[in-house]
Amino acid sequence: MIAERLDQFMARANAIYYASHDPFADFTTAPEVSQVFGELLGLWAAIAWDRVGRPDPVLLVEAGPGRGTLMADALRAVARAQPDFAAAAQVHLIETSPRLRAAQAARLQQAAPKQVTWHQALSELPDGPMILLANEFLDALPIRQFVRRGTGWAERYVGNGAWVEEPVVPPALPPLRSVAEGRIVEINEPARAFAAVAAARLRTFGGVALFIDYGADAGARTEAPGDTLQAIADGRMVNPLSAAGSADLTAHVDFADLARAAAAAGAAVQGPVTQRRFLLQLGARERTERLAASAPPHQAETLRGGLARLIDAAQMGTLFKVMALTAPHCPALPGLAED
Ligand code: SAH
Repeated sequence: MIAERLDQFMARANAIYYASHDPFADFTTAPEVSQVFGELLGLWAAIAWDRVGRPDPVLLVEAGPGRGTLMADALRAVARAQPDFAAAAQVHLIETSPRLRAAQAARLQQAAPKQVTWHQALSELPDGPMILLANEFLDALPIRQFVRRGTGWAERYVGNGAWVEEPVVPPALPPLRSVAEGRIVEINEPARAFAAVAAARLRTFGGVALFIDYGADAGARTEAPGDTLQAIADGRMVNPLSAAGSADLTAHVDFADLARAAAAAGAAVQGPVTQRRFLLQLGARERTERLAASAPPHQAETLRGGLARLIDAAQMGTLFKVMALTAPHCPALPGLAED
């Protein structure tokens, strides 16, 4: 068997995985943990829409919407809190999995009946200003890995379920202070491309794009984070190279690299901040307590437990980061102010 470059292996494996599995049987994401997550993102989108001049119509876009839970919760919250935005918003979903498209259609039909248009890629969206949301989308895009060997580099390939290295002159890597022998450096080319296309759209038509994902803190880093490729099957970490398509393959998002790609394409960047900071600044605690106050005791416990999972440092609170791309000279957006 001929060895496959890691990004090709990852793209092929995830295409099989998403077409044949219910990914949410294997892992849980923030919108599935608490309805407050999607509701606050909806309110965030409404405020962002206001700050960029209330364009009407506006594309309300989600990339990688999973089960459609985030968008359903967001639309429900927006319909009540900011009906002008709800009326102006045209919903567009970027999703490659036919199976998940069907789940999204069912969920949105039932929760928030509104016309929805699906796309394979960001470049397919119609022209116009957009508010884009993407939670745990970039981590699913295929990465390449390079290993320091002597004064040069090798690239990692997968052959017969094992790593194979090929000497290579790598494309632009993130700026590194020093790289020890054997150290792994990752790049996510589709994430860079997504940021660049989003940036060009924001510059031309206006709007904002919000990314939430797990990854190392952008600014503070002095060393490459190394190998962050992971595979989850049945809620457990498994060997990423075993049976392509039987596990969900993801990697940490390099927010500094994403910000550079977006800035090079003319966008401004706000954040990243931790998910904890973002959600607390948006009033996640108050919203949770308000819901808990009128819920039966076991449901109140579930709501409080869900919030803890989203904001505690030991859980998703600090590993997850939030970053926005905007057109140049956009006013400060809610939740993204640094300490
Ligand atoms: N945002 C959701 C789902 C995260 S899982 C949540 O928070 O629950 C990743 C999602 O991205 C899935 O919907 C998957 O089908 C989609 N996806 C993965 N690769 C994609 C690609 N290249 N283009 C569009 N969608 C993709």
